[in-house]
Amino acid sequence: MVDLALAALDDGRRIRGGPLPAGGPPVVRAMTRAALGLTPADPAPADPAPPDSTGTLLPRTGIGPSAALTGLVEALAAGSADPADPWCAAHLHCPPLAVAVAADLAVSALNPSLDSWDQAPAATTIETEVVATLAALVGFDPDRATGTITTGGTESNLMGLFLGRDAARRGPTGQDALGPAAPGHDAGHQGGPGHRGADRPAPRVFRSAAAHFSIDRAASLLAIDAPPVLVIETDDRHRMRVEALRHALAAHAGPAIVVATAGTTDAGAVDPLRQIAAVVEEHRLRLGGSQDPSRPSGMEARSGRAACWFHVDAAHGGGALLSERLAGLLDGLDLADSVALDLHKLGWQPAPAGVFLTARDDGWASLATRAEYLNPEDDEAAGFTSLLGRSLRTTRRADAFPIAVTLRALGRDGLGARVDACHDLAQHAARTVRADPRLELAFPVTLSTLVFRYRPPQAISDPTASGPTASGPAGPPSPDRVDRINARLRRELLVAGRAVVGRTQLGPRHAVFLKLTLLNPDATTADVDALLGLIAETGDVLAAGGSTRARRRS
Ligand SMILES: *Cc1c(COP(=O)(O)O)cnc(C)c1O
Repeated sequence: MVDLALAALDDGRRIRGGPLPAGGPPVVRAMTRAALGLTPADPAPADPAPPDSTGTLLPRTGIGPSAALTGLVEALAAGSADPADPWCAAHLHCPPLAVAVAADLAVSALNPSLDSWDQAPAATTIETEVVATLAALVGFDPDRATGTITTGGTESNLMGLFLGRDAARRGPTGQDALGPAAPGHDAGHQGGPGHRGADRPAPRVFRSAAAHFSIDRAASLLAIDAPPVLVIETDDRHRMRVEALRHALAAHAGPAIVVATAGTTDAGAVDPLRQIAAVVEEHRLRLGGSQDPSRPSGMEARSGRAACWFHVDAAHGGGALLSERLAGLLDGLDLADSVALDLHKLGWQPAPAGVFLTARDDGWASLATRAEYLNPEDDEAAGFTSLLGRSLRTTRRADAFPIAVTLRALGRDGLGARVDACHDLAQHAARTVRADPRLELAFPVTLSTLVFRYRPPQAISDPTASGPTASGPAGPPSPDRVDRINARLRRELLVAGRAVVGRTQLGPRHAVFLKLTLLNPDATTADVDALLGLIAETGDVLAAGGSTRARRRS
């Protein structure tokens, strides 16, 4: 089966012949529906399917594993946006390492599940050690830190806000809140997660204007969005303004969850983590000192800490930790209470490879669960440790395994070199954009993302200009027209199957910008320059009122 899949992957890639299938949504839909057996295939397959297998994805009689696998793997490969192609550069969507893909296959074959020791004897240790290694990389005290592998930044952010919410709700007084209880231990009979102290005010969430949307979703799921999440303004490089946070926290004077972003999704901007941590500490002292002045000072500090949780969303930027050159960008990350990392971004893992880490292992009571069929107390006492209390999920794949293989295989230098190669590529691309009068850079590169746009001849150059610019027939193109050209340019390249370029909108008038997210360390500067050249040429054609059906690269 694996041999068939590999051969079909190769055939499908050849059929595609570029970074994505040509033809746009209708063509890809038709091609894919045919492979699913929903419409007659064209041309007729050499090995015709049984007559009753056409028209339904669930025929009475299946077509058999070889035919189904070959046909559908080929269709998937032919119809994929392939991040291994240097011109597929729109998202935080990385080409996975072959070694990680092969490791992932082993996980699928063995199918361990981390919700109990007896479903994952070795995988339990592997996840524990991967988490400990990554916690040390973040700078957490390895004796106290803990964490879990997640489906990604979205789940990690939900967990950060969840633990932060319940730390504030429980407050410092209950031994149950900050006591020594390990996850999975002695929790089931303590009244259930998150209930104690539910009468305390829920913390208010503070995040920057450039934070990921999953923060607000998590706040909504956890019912901590009333009062609404407070949005802190950013500077011209999309970093949180620390003074604005300081003022907002001082005015709030209640429990809080402060979310910083290390590598914003669009710009790759890194909030000033160390300065934010200092503001968080000020707020803790304010709360700890004011909540109950009669408490001894140790308890005051705990009280303040429980009431202000500091979560860092490093889903994008966490990869910088692997690079000696870039690790300094994340200075202060070790001061967080919890951190989200994504190794399916700057880590070259097949998704999902999210990581959620906490600096201390004493804040997980909300997840501690006793299920007699998974982690009976006497089993745990006898050393049959279960990771059930580490996750919102029950059945849980051993996604730590490809990570473990990758860390062993490449080492920190091997991974760091890949991060640096992507950073170099983005800096080269920025120079190319600056040198081309038809292209305009939105802001300097931080990690490996380039945000820019096509600028028609004489276009206005202020990306943040607001209000319509009156433009006569001979004047510069209006901002709206520049937006339309950039938006259309990107779709033209998609429909032609030529390139997958990203898009975002910036500034008060939400001007359309293009984005290259360079996560392929094997791409060359020539690849990137050729792609930028194609973008500028396509823009020229559209600006001149022409229509392009840019031809495929040969
Ligand atoms: C990608 C990203 C997320 C979401 O992570 P998923 O792995 O897609 O769930 C969250 N935050 C930031 C900053 C991201 O870049």
